[in-house]
Amino acid sequence: HAKNSNLNSYHFFAPEMNQRVVERLRLESELRLALQLDQLELHYQPQVEIGSGQINGFEALLRWNHPELGMVSPADFIPLAEETRLILPIGAWVLKEACRQNRQWQDQGLPPMVVAVNLSALQFQENDLVAMVSAALMTSGLAPRWLELEITESVIMQEPERMVGILEELKCLGVRLSIDDFGTGYSSLSYLKRFPIDKIKIDRSFIRDVVSSQGDAAIVRMVIAMAGELERKVIAEGVETNEQLDFLRLHQCHEFQGFLCSRPVPALQVPELLAAGAEAI
Ligand code: C2E
Ligand code: MG
Ligand code: MG
Ligand code: MG
Repeated sequence: HAKNSNLNSYHFFAPEMNQRVVERLRLESELRLALQLDQLELHYQPQVEIGSGQINGFEALLRWNHPELGMVSPADFIPLAEETRLILPIGAWVLKEACRQNRQWQDQGLPPMVVAVNLSALQFQENDLVAMVSAALMTSGLAPRWLELEITESVIMQEPERMVGILEELKCLGVRLSIDDFGTGYSSLSYLKRFPIDKIKIDRSFIRDVVSSQGDAAIVRMVIAMAGELERKVIAEGVETNEQLDFLRLHQCHEFQGFLCSRPVPALQVPELLAAGAEAI
């Protein structure tokens, strides 16, 4: 009889809804263990100087190497990590790991380069962000100038007054700061001038059709010009074709990032990527 009543209560759920809930709970408990089980890894995507074709640095992009699901993309688990606040320990690990890896490359004799790390909104709500960044630098022995922190435009603009203060503290450590996904949020120009940021990253949605859409072309030209006026560096995200790169070169964008140079690669492939150089482009 007990068996029967179990079956009955099971059928109160719509099967597909039950499926989704179970799947989410499963991912959540597995994500909780992912750090301990060493399933998280960073992949690195080159940032290329358009004028010289040189690789100036890399963006560190988080991957979850799941035993059954394979490589899970951050789009599929960062939101979950944020809802569960797991992004805090995960984000701390990302910072430490990127600094450790960059320092190791320098110790191996690779030319020093900047590694950029993405920060989540929750990390700014905690009071220990500056201390955590500083600890990651100390522990790894990485000089601050080789670490860049990426903050999305929407996160910066949530509480701009408070952000100015935190960003200034971070800047005092000697790290670089960039605004990620620029153009997708609502930046106030007066704040943009006050934020101590070094670089503006033009969102990939404006680059995709930059060659065919006059609107996107105008926006990209405008952001490049504005970055110049504010004496900030500017990088285009999501560059996939030579035509897009030609447009950016013509309008004097400093750097680009995108599949045209390379997809994000595991750390082990970074030395060969550097050796091959971006000269081929
Ligand atoms: P993002 O910081 O804007 O990173 C750029 C994304 O664009 C990456 O996706 C990258 O693989 C992708 N991408 C680069 N070049 C191209 C291209 O030419 N074409 C196309 N179609 N895509 C390109 P990914 O690795 O899936 O990361 C997605 C987002 O997840 C990131 O966007 C970032 O917001 C977040 N993320 C990744 N790693 C971390 C992390 O360690 N911490 C936090 N908080 N967020 C992270
Ligand atoms: Mg980014
Ligand atoms: Mg971005
Ligand atoms: Mg993006």
